[in-house]
Amino acid sequence: MKSTHFFRRVISILFPARCVGCGGWGRYLCDDCLFKVGFLEKQYCPACKKSAILGFASHGCGKRTSLDQLISLCWYRGVVRSLVMNYKFAPYVKNLESEIERLMLQSLSPEDVFDWSTGIVIPVPLHKSKLKQRGFNQSEAIAHVLAKIVGGEVSASLLVRTRASGVQSSIKDDRLRVQNVRGVFSVNKALIARYSSAKVFVLVDDVYTSGSTLQECARVIKRSFPQSSVVGFTLARG
Ligand SMILES: [Zn+2]
Ligand SMILES: [Zn+2]
Repeated sequence: MKSTHFFRRVISILFPARCVGCGGWGRYLCDDCLFKVGFLEKQYCPACKKSAILGFASHGCGKRTSLDQLISLCWYRGVVRSLVMNYKFAPYVKNLESEIERLMLQSLSPEDVFDWSTGIVIPVPLHKSKLKQRGFNQSEAIAHVLAKIVGGEVSASLLVRTRASGVQSSIKDDRLRVQNVRGVFSVNKALIARYSSAKVFVLVDDVYTSGSTLQECARVIKRSFPQSSVVGFTLARG
């Protein structure tokens, strides 16, 4: 980790931070642009997508969702979109964790994440080939920031992506998105015993769009941990 820190120091000297919103020097998201972020004013049921208190599955929707709760922070537009895009494609040049932490501190309320402090925080995994190509899983970085704020233990190896699924965002039809991720994930069997007493699993992704990826991850986790609740967290919602 020390060499990463040194590397980032060097990078930050060579490429000083500029705001993704206004281009001003000093931060990747300046205070003025942070003020303009569109935070969600309410949360939505992970099944019917109607507004729901604290993002819990609404009455009668429980059977249609493997996610028991879903919390997203901001709308995926403007500076948040720029931040996520920058993060995805230039993670070592742009050290954005501190900006993501500011977004979370600004908008996450204790009741949103009531029992997450003992949770197992799981980033949506990339396929090996994608990870190798990109060198970085942005969901894992977000998972670490979340765990730092709410508590919980990050496990980046419990859930595995067993085959590449292609780019989900290029598929417009929700049913095809569901089919595209079906059977893509599996639980690392060697770790089931270790987490068997976990009450909550918190799945983390950068952006929530149709929800089919998070639902599929949740379904797979529930199959191995039927007594636990599975909740979802995303930085942004499309
Ligand atoms: Zn700015
Ligand atoms: Zn519902």
